Amino acid sequence: MTTHGHFINGKAVAGSSGRLHDIFNPSTGEVQSQVALASRSELEQAVDAAEKAFPGWAAVNPQRRARVLFKFKELVEKDMENLAHMLSSEHGKILPDARGDIQRGLEVVEFACGIPHLQKGEYTESAGPGIDVYSMRQPLGVVAGITPFNFPAMIPMWMFSVAIACGNTFINKPSEKDPSVPMRLAELMMEAGAPEGVLNVVNGDKEAVDAIIEDPRIKAISFVGSSDIAHYIYANGAKHGKRVQAFGGAKNHMIILPDADMENVANQLIGSAYGSAGERCMATPVAVPVGEGTADRLVEMLKPRVEGLRIGPSMSEDSDLGPLVSAAHRDRVKSYIQMAVDEGQELVVDGREFSLQGYENGFFMGGTLLDRAKPGHKSYDEEIFGPVLQVVRAQNFEEAVALPSDHQYGNGVAIFTRNGDAAREFARQVNVGMVGVNVPIPVPVAYHTFGGWKRSGFGDTNQHGPEGVRFWTKIKTITQRWPEDIQGSEFVIPTMN
Ligand code: NAD
Repeated sequence: MTTHGHFINGKAVAGSSGRLHDIFNPSTGEVQSQVALASRSELEQAVDAAEKAFPGWAAVNPQRRARVLFKFKELVEKDMENLAHMLSSEHGKILPDARGDIQRGLEVVEFACGIPHLQKGEYTESAGPGIDVYSMRQPLGVVAGITPFNFPAMIPMWMFSVAIACGNTFINKPSEKDPSVPMRLAELMMEAGAPEGVLNVVNGDKEAVDAIIEDPRIKAISFVGSSDIAHYIYANGAKHGKRVQAFGGAKNHMIILPDADMENVANQLIGSAYGSAGERCMATPVAVPVGEGTADRLVEMLKPRVEGLRIGPSMSEDSDLGPLVSAAHRDRVKSYIQMAVDEGQELVVDGREFSLQGYENGFFMGGTLLDRAKPGHKSYDEEIFGPVLQVVRAQNFEEAVALPSDHQYGNGVAIFTRNGDAAREFARQVNVGMVGVNVPIPVPVAYHTFGGWKRSGFGDTNQHGPEGVRFWTKIKTITQRWPEDIQGSEFVIPTMN
């Protein structure tokens, strides 16, 4: 059986801790390989390599750094099918969705190719007599990204492409559930011409994460995963003097006003609630129809669509969704469904008993639809992260805005309506970081920026876009004068008076 090690200083290295983690094929339920879990000293080897590579890489001019990323993009595109199969077989998402995961990452690589323009500083001529002021954005040094299982291509690329383009050297600690794609991306980055040590991958669990937090040579951490871990990394990273951005869980709502095109709403909602088995931080696990009539119509239209979902093995091209990532996660999702029933929600479609013929040991479950969820129900207040859609009935617009605004998570939200005034007011008022108007999954394009609010995001700078460049650089401001004759001493702080 294959055992994945780490990727340090330009090459694959075997793990030496003796600790291993099983990697499943979620469609069959079989262990297909294992991954080594790094010890503190293995993480330190990666930091040594990244630290050694940093001065040289930071000194490479930005256009040449961009050329490496252009080449990397070309190589990833060539390797797309191989990467998509690797991704699908470890994660369980269907192949077209795996290609989308890689493609969305590549869009951030494309953004990072513009680094010569993005990293330019500012200049003020004659800010004082003979004085010019300019600024430069310099890389931070060795930086790290800790990434979740659900987007094993896109999220590492969000982080490392911008960080490396800015002149940093990078250590990725991917999810132990699906590390093959991040490992392959590091290989391709070397093939694209990045020097050894510029992009390293250390596989592991809490031990590797704590070593990242505590190593004083690592200057910044970007994290994406669940909220409790995000908060742990934010608080402890800051305690160790690091710059940290940490993105957490989500419970995204779709508000449906009575004037919305219900056929379109039902179709969009099915894709955004159940696609990728609901294991997306920008999925829509909550529908909020406004008014009883809207709610009754919506539930009636959703029921046959949920019952008709095509669930199949991840490699099948004609499934709507595949299995969940692990048996433990599937069982957790099922326990939330029982909790919702116990809380008094109406079980319109129950996906718990679903089993796929020929794949009885796979981590499958069917789509579930629950009506009449409410704030205060634990199953509504918490993230479920599975193919489960809960309907919360709102009586009016104000109640509909309050639901996502008052929820502990604030990643994404959407409103479906033909009323421009209502949509504009909703976007202005709602206490959530990313808003869709007639767009169910409002993931911003690469040159804008991604980030949620409240318990969906800790820290003050988002992923990619200009915010990403700010996160991965520090600004230096230079005030210069070239006097013709030597000046006398000045004991008062200089002002513009
Ligand atoms: P997770 O929090 O279990 O794991 C994320 C990372 O943290 C992994 O690399 C993992 O190895 C590490 N980790 C796990 N336990 C740890 C611990 N005790 N101490 C230190 N590190 C630990 O998340 P996941 O299950 O891989 O991913 C799903 C979660 O990620 C969901 O909550 C989802 O909403 C969230 N997510 C958020 C975004 C976003 O942008 N806000 C995007 C994708 C996923």
